[in-house]
Amino acid sequence: MTTNAAHRILNADLHCHSVVSDGTLTPESLASRAKANGVELWSLTDHDEIGGQQRALAAARDVGLPYLTGTEVSVTFAGTTVHIVGLGFDPEHPALVQGLSSTRGGRDQRALEMAEQLAKVGIPGVFEGALKYAGNPELISRSHFARYLVEAGVCADVSEVFRKYLTEGKPGFVPHRWAKLGDAVRWIGEAGGMAVIAHPARYDLSPTAEYALFSEFKAHGGGGVEVVTGSHSPSEYPKYADMAIEFDLAASRGSDFHSPNESHTDLGALPFLEGRLTPVWERLADRIHFH
Ligand code: AMP
Ligand code: MN
Ligand code: MN
Ligand code: MN
Repeated sequence: MTTNAAHRILNADLHCHSVVSDGTLTPESLASRAKANGVELWSLTDHDEIGGQQRALAAARDVGLPYLTGTEVSVTFAGTTVHIVGLGFDPEHPALVQGLSSTRGGRDQRALEMAEQLAKVGIPGVFEGALKYAGNPELISRSHFARYLVEAGVCADVSEVFRKYLTEGKPGFVPHRWAKLGDAVRWIGEAGGMAVIAHPARYDLSPTAEYALFSEFKAHGGGGVEVVTGSHSPSEYPKYADMAIEFDLAASRGSDFHSPNESHTDLGALPFLEGRLTPVWERLADRIHFH
């Protein structure tokens, strides 16, 4: 990590989930797995939650893995859900701690309403079933519902669950108001970190709305965009490399790994960033924990 060229070929993995949100591995197992897979800079980015950061940092130190603090904030933008990753922040900063706490706040009620809808289509007991899978009772997510629906034999795998249930227009979908884009970017920035648009190709946005997302994100002080992500197919990378350059955003790279059983992309198993991009870790150099 001493020259520009080396910066771009770093095996950084700056997006994944633990049992503190909707992953199935502990922060400690993720740190070991990342190290074993050759990751050179890691971040744990649990949804709306930083309760795993101290464990992740300690585990990264134990295996000798440079670490950036992380989270993935759920945002409502133009009527759809958008995810904003935060990297390199102070995990004790009150604006961020309180903002994430309020973002988590509505999940319980939403889960009860999701279960009510599923009961109406003849699938009972899903709230209690999903809760068994939630390692953090404040963070009950659609992933936990999906795992329970597979266990209950309703679907063969979690992809089938998301095709048939839990998504717009399907039973078990409850519209939800998450954080505002400007608030999420501000919490991360006030805590000294960089806000990054997660997996931009995954959103249900028109080209005009997508352009508005990038423009408003930039105007609010956002700093980066995921270009190489396990949530995109490689054919989607170049468009967002172009967008990073157009909007002068740094580029990030992360697997979005959730589980050995569910995730297509393992920790660290991604192509490198293109040389024309500025990596987020170049702009966050002073925030990296080298231990
Ligand atoms: P929530 O924050 O409760 O709305 O849950 C969102 C999570 O559900 C995402 O972070 C993914 O982990 C998971 N998810 C969403 N869509 C799918 C899908 N099609 N297949 C598998 N997992 C999905
Ligand atoms: Mn998830
Ligand atoms: Mn996401
Ligand atoms: Mn994610």
